[in-house]
Amino acid sequence: MCFITKQASYRYLLVTQDFLITSKPLNQNTNMFNENQADYDVVISGGGLAGLTLALQLKKSFSACRILVLEKRKEPAPAATHKVGESLSELGAYYLREVLDLKDNLVSCQLRKFGFRFFLTPEHSEDITRRVEVGSKIFNPFPSHQVDRGKLENDLVIAAIDKGIEIVLGAKVTSVDLSKKGHHIRFEKNNVEHGVAAKWFVDATGRNSLLKRKLNLEKELDHNINSAWFRLDAKIDIDFWSDNISWRNFVAPNLRHLATNHLMGEGYWVWIIPLVDDRTSIGIVADPRYHAFDTFNSFEKSMNWLKTYEPLAASILEKHTDKLMDFKVMKNFAYDSKQFYSSDRWAVTGEAGAFLDPLYSPGSDFIGLSNTWIADLINRDLKKEDINLRSLVYDHSHKQLFRGWAALYRDMYGLFGKTQIMLMKIIWDWATYWAIPNVLFSNKGYINLDVMKLYSSPNGIGHRFATLNQNMQQLFLFWGQHYKETISDHQLNVFDVGCLKQLQSEIGHKYDQDELISKIESNLDLLQLISAEIFRKVSNQLHDTPVDMNVDPYEMKITYDKIELLKKSKSIGALMVDESIRMDIGKMWFSKIKKQENEFVQ
Ligand SMILES: Cc1cc2nc3c(=O)[nH]c(=O)nc-3n(C[C@H](O)[C@H](O)[C@H](O)COP(=O)(O)OP(=O)(O)OC[C@H]3O[C@@H](n4cnc5c(N)ncnc54)[C@H](O)[C@@H]3O)c2cc1C
Repeated sequence: MCFITKQASYRYLLVTQDFLITSKPLNQNTNMFNENQADYDVVISGGGLAGLTLALQLKKSFSACRILVLEKRKEPAPAATHKVGESLSELGAYYLREVLDLKDNLVSCQLRKFGFRFFLTPEHSEDITRRVEVGSKIFNPFPSHQVDRGKLENDLVIAAIDKGIEIVLGAKVTSVDLSKKGHHIRFEKNNVEHGVAAKWFVDATGRNSLLKRKLNLEKELDHNINSAWFRLDAKIDIDFWSDNISWRNFVAPNLRHLATNHLMGEGYWVWIIPLVDDRTSIGIVADPRYHAFDTFNSFEKSMNWLKTYEPLAASILEKHTDKLMDFKVMKNFAYDSKQFYSSDRWAVTGEAGAFLDPLYSPGSDFIGLSNTWIADLINRDLKKEDINLRSLVYDHSHKQLFRGWAALYRDMYGLFGKTQIMLMKIIWDWATYWAIPNVLFSNKGYINLDVMKLYSSPNGIGHRFATLNQNMQQLFLFWGQHYKETISDHQLNVFDVGCLKQLQSEIGHKYDQDELISKIESNLDLLQLISAEIFRKVSNQLHDTPVDMNVDPYEMKITYDKIELLKKSKSIGALMVDESIRMDIGKMWFSKIKKQENEFVQ
């Protein structure tokens, strides 16, 4: 249920007006504190998605934890708010639904998401029926949501207050003095400076990155992408972009528009996301090597840009420009951090730490991951457990995961208009995401040192997974240099691909420690078979190698020549064709297969 009842909204008002909710007056100009005299166990600076969910997670796992959230915004957030972060992927959805028990709220106050949906083939941007469409025909077995961030954050504030978390709105954190004996945090409210002391300080100030700036933790990421987005107070339903009934009927009515719909083209993608109350979020995300930022950095320019690259979409959206609600841009949005967690009792979460790319919506995934690591450290520390080793392991794991994930995006925008490559990339990226991070996260694997030790050991699952993924992403890039085909006129149901359906259906399944390890081992085996089959097909196309060649997905590189590939295919680690995976990948493969020299078959 939605939390903003009449009574709750009255209490919300109190929070915005004064400190009436806080249990004691806030100290002015507090001096350094002895650990046992700190006002709070945890002060969280920033009450956006990351800060509020962390507060709830901490309170859930340790009810005695004294938490203060300081949020600069004075008022409750407006609906269809200023923020992006509307589409949830499975890991983020699991975090909100299952870890924080917000399932009922998401079901009744937000929209159920109809998965991700891609319209490839930009050559046919004037006729949606000719574009290759990839998505499901049914709701994904593991539910996810499209969230109105204003609505969600307001609900989280109410939920937090109800659980005894203290929240001050209109409180801008101005500085923090870090000391393991007790951090001293200063903030301004109504032009008056206040100070509080806390054992832990967590920065969740988003791109303001208060702590990162103070500690010089900023780290650049070699991924430079720009975005512009706007909201319309109108429902945009892709079903009605064509009168072609057989195209429409590929999916039951009223479902397509609930997906995160992507229009893909060289160097860009456009999102269309539905929000509650029939509003729609639309965004352009583009690599400046293909589309200069100043070609779409105002609403007028965005509409002109759409007319050029996505003319059908532009013609539909133009009818609703009088319902424009907001327009925002963000330049070069990706960045990294040198550190995320410290045993000196500080941490950064959400965009105060790092951000990669909105494709596949990993923003809330990383919030779930970060908050889970932070909540575990704080819990253990408050229970007097030594957290030195854990803080190092968690920090290292976060960096490994984040930097491995970056390979999905780096230099990839040039491939977004190449249909067959994108079909294989989508299969691969989804399979990897569902097979390993989702399974580990929903089974607390990332905070289990025994699991992490095995995972991160020199030839452990994590290492092999990273190598496999790097090799595949390199394969897509190399393939892109030689790709000349146009493929069109297909509608593909992702759950016809059996291995994808299986991996999706297993999200959220519970395993004990031994089962978890064997599950991610067996999922890695499956990924090896998928990568070997994709390799086989691409190598056949690029190097004329046999379509049934054995493939060692770790050792064989697509950049090798035919002689080298055939030699490596005889190695012990080379995998034979797996018939069921061959059929799965075949369902998304439309390029010609070279059966023998000069003989092509479909
Ligand atoms: C173009 C784009 C599209 C995206 N799309 C998606 C998507 O579809 N799905 C998804 O999951 N993620 C998406 N993201 C990422 C998503 O926006 C972020 O993951 C998420 O908003 C980060 O939440 P946060 O709480 O860290 O930061 P914010 O939401 O920015 O919250 C930070 C809070 O801190 C407060 N604050 C700042 N400074 C101070 C201060 N000094 N004192 C007190 N308070 C302060 C702010 O007022 C704010 O409320 C997208 C990002 C981009 C750039």
